[in-house]
Amino acid sequence: VFDVLKKINDNAWEVPVGFKPGMNVPGRIFVSESLLHLLDMGTLDQVANVAILPGIQRYSMAMPDAHLGYGFPIGGVAAFDKHSGIISPGGVGFDINCGVRLIRSNLTEQDVRPKLSGLLDELFEVIPTGVGSKGRLKVSDAELDDIFVHGVQWAVDNGYGVKADIGHCESKGQMSGADPSTVSLRARKRGRPQIGTLGSGNHFLEVQYIDKIYDEEAASAMGLREGQVTFMIHCGSRGAGHQICTDHLQVLAQASKKYGIPLPDKQLACAPAQSKEAQDYFKAMVCAANYAWVNRHVIMHWTREVFERHFAADHGDLGLDLVYDVAHNIAKLEEHKINGKNTEVYVHRKGATRAFPPGHPDLPEDYLVVGQPVLIPGSMGTPSYVLCSTEDSMDISFGSACHGAGRVMSRKHAKKELIGEDIRDELSSRGILVRATQPSLIAEEAPAVYKSSSEVVDVVHDLGIARKVARLLPMGVIKG
Ligand code: 5GP
Ligand code: MN
Ligand code: MN
Repeated sequence: VFDVLKKINDNAWEVPVGFKPGMNVPGRIFVSESLLHLLDMGTLDQVANVAILPGIQRYSMAMPDAHLGYGFPIGGVAAFDKHSGIISPGGVGFDINCGVRLIRSNLTEQDVRPKLSGLLDELFEVIPTGVGSKGRLKVSDAELDDIFVHGVQWAVDNGYGVKADIGHCESKGQMSGADPSTVSLRARKRGRPQIGTLGSGNHFLEVQYIDKIYDEEAASAMGLREGQVTFMIHCGSRGAGHQICTDHLQVLAQASKKYGIPLPDKQLACAPAQSKEAQDYFKAMVCAANYAWVNRHVIMHWTREVFERHFAADHGDLGLDLVYDVAHNIAKLEEHKINGKNTEVYVHRKGATRAFPPGHPDLPEDYLVVGQPVLIPGSMGTPSYVLCSTEDSMDISFGSACHGAGRVMSRKHAKKELIGEDIRDELSSRGILVRATQPSLIAEEAPAVYKSSSEVVDVVHDLGIARKVARLLPMGVIKG
């Protein structure tokens, strides 16, 4: 099946332009030989389809955690020229600005173990989980507009989080270019009651500890050390983002026809980047992105409060500082060097993390020397990783890396094959406690449904996109 692939190096493979009619550029799949056999033909086909879209630059990419997605593969990265290119919601995904944040602490694994069960119970109570769950936070329509436009700044102004957190979010948690008038009433209605909610399935809040440091200098810049407890939050823009994607997909399906864009797959609906249709989607996408940053910020705030109660100290003394927050479903206008020329491109990262190198002006001061933190969740039973971006990431992958281990078993298949209660017991015997709305959910999210996070991260490390900094092991997980 993979005879078509041309080996570039041990971790990069080319899908030649001749693979499919109409490809403007080759595809490039970043994967090791041992992970290659987990790649399915459908994902390969999607990489090729994206290469057919107008204005794509250099190549259509897939990260080592890539798998089948809506139109674009999950784990896909593609950059389109600002003028001759397109913008496509399929390249961002339904959960706009789904992302991950990591919070460190002064607590050690030994401090937390004895209190873990109670801590998780309270977190599970305080942070609403599940598909349609509603939050404890009631915002008005005017406040929702504020959230869409000002993101994390709104959160901090309203008592959620502290000022120091802002610089530690990608885009300072407040991407510019939002226009709330591009967000439908339906999206507002879905989004209003859901701020501070985790959502379902793959989204989680995890208590972890660091069992290994790979890079002392970078770890120390991020305030990370062996034995330290951290927590990780993974969620996105909930119903608001989903509805915004749905609404604009309809408009862009029409627009693709209107502008005569050849679509190898209807799910790739898009419009010329500078058209009103594409720009309206982009403005709405920014609203959802800012909403998602607020969502993670509020969840972090409530988590800090739970830790404060359990350890009878305030969050400053507990050292519960935000290390970093990265988006992994987003499109951004960025400047990249292409054929030696600085070029503005809309980089679509769908199930891919931004990875900007040391010295990049978008990085906070404390990470200027070591590079942007890249946060890679593994699963509730396998390690997660912190990496830092390197100089070469811009040239190799438009400043992007993987976003997780990546699914290998479908939810449906997992529910048939695996028994949630058994997995919970097995994890518990290893000291990992899981709180979930239903046992079937634990089956759908079992460690076995994901690739090996260590193997995936090694690809990124060996390619030289991002360097390993720390390994995090799960202690307790809250699942939607
Ligand atoms: P996605 O954004 O594609 O839904 O998921 C991102 C990644 O999160 C997955 O590829 C998987 O590796 C990871 N993941 C899913 N569930 C968990 C969990 O409970 N804990 C941790 N640490 N990682 C998870
Ligand atoms: Mn995600
Ligand atoms: Mn998500």
